[in-house]
Amino acid sequence: MGKLLVSNLGYPRIGFDRQWKKCLESFWQGSLDQEQFFKDMKDLRIANLQKQKDLGVDWIPVNDFTFYDHVLDMAAMFNVVPKRYQNLSTAPVSLTTYFAMARGTQENVACEMTKWFNTNYHYIVPEYEQGVELTLTHNKPLEAFLEAKQQLGINGKPVIIGPLSFAKFSKGNYGTLSKYVHKLLPLYIQTLQELSAAGCDWVQMDEPFLVVNITNEDMELLKHVYQEFKTAVPKLKIILQTYFDSLENYEQIIQLPVAGIGLDFVHGYKENLKSLETFKFPEDKILGLGLINGRNIWRCDLMEKYKLIQKIFQFVPAERIWIQPSCSLLTTPVSATGEKKLAPFLRNSIAYSDEKLVELKHLADACNKGLDSVTEFFNEAAAALKDLEDERLKIKINFSLENLKSIGIERSESFESRFEKQRASLKLPLLPTTTIGSFPQTTQVRSARNKFKRGALSSEEYEKFIKEQIEKWVRIQEEIGIDVLVHGEFERNDMVEYFGEKLVGFAFTSNGWVQSYGSRCVKPPIIYGDVSFKEPMTVKETVYCQSLTSKPVKGILTGPVTILNWSFVRDDVPRNEVSYQIALALRDEVLALEAAGINLVQVDEPAVREGLPLKKIDWSDYLDWAVKSFRLATCKVKPETQIHTHMCYCEFQDIIQSILDLDADVISIETSRSHGEMISAFEKFKYSKGIGLGVYDIHSPRIPSKEEMSDVLTRGLKVVDTKLFWVNPDCGLKTRTEDQTIAALKNMVEAAKEVRERLIK
Ligand code: GLN
Ligand code: ZN
Repeated sequence: MGKLLVSNLGYPRIGFDRQWKKCLESFWQGSLDQEQFFKDMKDLRIANLQKQKDLGVDWIPVNDFTFYDHVLDMAAMFNVVPKRYQNLSTAPVSLTTYFAMARGTQENVACEMTKWFNTNYHYIVPEYEQGVELTLTHNKPLEAFLEAKQQLGINGKPVIIGPLSFAKFSKGNYGTLSKYVHKLLPLYIQTLQELSAAGCDWVQMDEPFLVVNITNEDMELLKHVYQEFKTAVPKLKIILQTYFDSLENYEQIIQLPVAGIGLDFVHGYKENLKSLETFKFPEDKILGLGLINGRNIWRCDLMEKYKLIQKIFQFVPAERIWIQPSCSLLTTPVSATGEKKLAPFLRNSIAYSDEKLVELKHLADACNKGLDSVTEFFNEAAAALKDLEDERLKIKINFSLENLKSIGIERSESFESRFEKQRASLKLPLLPTTTIGSFPQTTQVRSARNKFKRGALSSEEYEKFIKEQIEKWVRIQEEIGIDVLVHGEFERNDMVEYFGEKLVGFAFTSNGWVQSYGSRCVKPPIIYGDVSFKEPMTVKETVYCQSLTSKPVKGILTGPVTILNWSFVRDDVPRNEVSYQIALALRDEVLALEAAGINLVQVDEPAVREGLPLKKIDWSDYLDWAVKSFRLATCKVKPETQIHTHMCYCEFQDIIQSILDLDADVISIETSRSHGEMISAFEKFKYSKGIGLGVYDIHSPRIPSKEEMSDVLTRGLKVVDTKLFWVNPDCGLKTRTEDQTIAALKNMVEAAKEVRERLIK
C-alpha cells in the first residue's frame, strides 16, 4: 500500500509571541522603517515554514502569510483598488495604498471589512470600480513559492483564493459574476503559468463558497474556469479546497478537471461521507481529507480519526489521500507549549496548530507504519480526554433542555407599552446620543491592568485607578453632551474574557491568541464544562459610574451567543445547550444591575450573525436558539428597564427579522464601515423598535466630520421612524486614541443637534 501524506492548508501568521502584530504596529507608528519591516516579516514567514517542515508536514502551504489579510492581498495583486486610493503612490499597489485600503486615511474611508464565513476573522472586501483596469500587479504566490524553495528547499503549495470565491467576496458594479470572473481569468492564468514555469507542482485553490450554495450558473462558470486552467497550465496540479461545511454538488464537482479535492470531514462530516459513499471518488484525484478540527483547540480522539481513515480507504487508497486540518489553522493559536498556567487536565487535553500537525503526523504514521508505532501517543491522548471528562463532572449543573421549557422568554409587556414607560422615565431627547461601551484602552489603562494581574498593583490601587478612569470619562461625556453615558469598560481586557473569568466553566490560556482583524488578536476563553453564575460581574463599575452623574448610565454586558461564538467551546454537548447555560448566568447579572438602579442594560451580540450556519437550511434552527438565548438573558426585567443590544461587521440583511425577534428595546448597529448598506436594507424592511445606525467607522484613525455624520443621519431618518432613532458610532472606541475619540464624538453630538433642530422646526 502506498503512503498517505500530511498536508496543511494555512498556518497562523501571527507568530508564537504575536511578533506579527508588534511588527505591524511599530511600522504603522513609524518606529520601524520599511526595510526592517520587510526583514522582520520575512523572518517570521520563514520560521513558520521551517516549523511545519520540522513537524513533518509533507505539503506545506505558502502565500498564506500576509501583511494584513489574504483577501486584501488578492485584491492588491489584481489591482482591485478603488480609485480613491490611486493617487497615493505611483507604484502599482504600494504598501501605503495597501494599508490605506485596509485602514483608511484621513482623506479616504477604508474598504469594507467583514467576517470570514462563520468565524471571527475579518477580511477586507475587494471593492471593484468600473474603469479600474484589472492587471497582475505582482505575483505574490510566486514570490512565496520561490522564497520557500530558495531559503529552505521547501517545495511549497501556494494557496490562492479561487476565482469563483474571489468574485463572490468582491463588491461593486462589476456586472454579472461571469463577466467579472472572465476579467480575472487571464490574471489567474498568468499567475498559474508563472508558478508552473518556476517548478511549482501543486496549487491549493480555495473555493470556500462551494459549501454555501451553488447555482447552475456558478456550476457552469466553475467548469469553464477550471477547464481553462487545465488547458493553459496542463502540468500544474490544482487541489480544489473547501472547508467549513460539506461540499454542495459533490457529484459534479468531483468531475472538474483538477488534480485534487479537499473536503472538510469535521464540519461537513456526515454529508461529505454520505456523498463519498454514494458517488465514490474519481481515480485520477487526490482526496484532501480534512480530519482534524482546525477551528477548535481540543485534542482529538485519535482512534476515532484512525478508524475514519480506514473507512475512507474503502473509497480512496492511501497514496491518493492527504490528511489535513479541516481548514486553515488561521483561527487556531500557534502552539500550546506556552500554556504553563492551565490546569494539567486542560493543558493535556488541548491541541493548537503545532499540536494538530503532530496529531496528523501520528495518524499518518499509524496508517503508514502500523498502529504499534504510535501506541504511546494514542494512549496518552485517550487518558487526557478521560481526565477532562472527569473534571467536567465536578462542575455539572442541573440543566436540561426539558426544564428550560418552564422558564419564560417573554417580556412582561409589549414593546409599545414598554416604549411609553421608558420614555416617561428616561426623559431622553429626540435622537438620543450614546456610545457602544468601551473608551480608549490607552497604554496607561493596559499597563495598570497588567500590573494588577502581575501583583504589582494591589486591588485597592487598581480599583482606584479604574474609578479615576470612569470619572474622567463621565466628565468628558458630560462635557461633549452625550445623553446616555457608559462607564468605559476600562476594567475589561476583552469583552468575552472578562465575563468568562467571572463565570464557572471557563478557563483561560496565556498564549491562545488568534487574529481577529488586521493586527488585532483575541484570546478566546475555553468553555470546558457547564457554565454557571458565581457573583455580579459588572455591577460595581456601572453603579459607581451612575453615582457620578444625573444622566442615565447604560450597563454593558456581552451576550450569550457572542460569548459562545468567541470562545473555544466544549464539543461534547450541542452548542445550543452551552448558549442557554450562559444565558441563564447572564440573566442573573441583568437582574442584579436592575436591582442596583441601572435603567438601561445593553447586551452586546456582535457575533450572532457570524455564527449563522453557512447553509440556509440550517439557519432557522440556529436563529431559533440564538434568539431564545438572548431573550432568556434579558426578558425578566421591568418594562421601564430599557434593554439595548449591539451588532457589527456582518451582513445583517439576512437576519433582520431575527434581530427584531430579540425584542431588545434598542439596537445599535454598525452602518458606516459598510458604507451605508444597512440603510438600504431598511428601505426594504421596516424596523419597528429603537435603533441607532452607526454614524462613523471606529476602526479608522480618521476623524469624521459633522457634515459626514449628519448625512448618515439624514439618510437613516428616511428609513427609520424619528422617535425610534438613536445616534452612536459603529462600535466601541477601545482601539482609538483619546484625542480621536473626543474629536469624533464632539462632531457626532453636533451632527445630532443640528439634525434634531431641523426636525423640531
Ligand atoms: N461593548 C463593546 C465595546 O464597546 C462592544 C464591542 C463589539 O461590538 N465588538 O467595545
Ligand atoms: Zn461592535
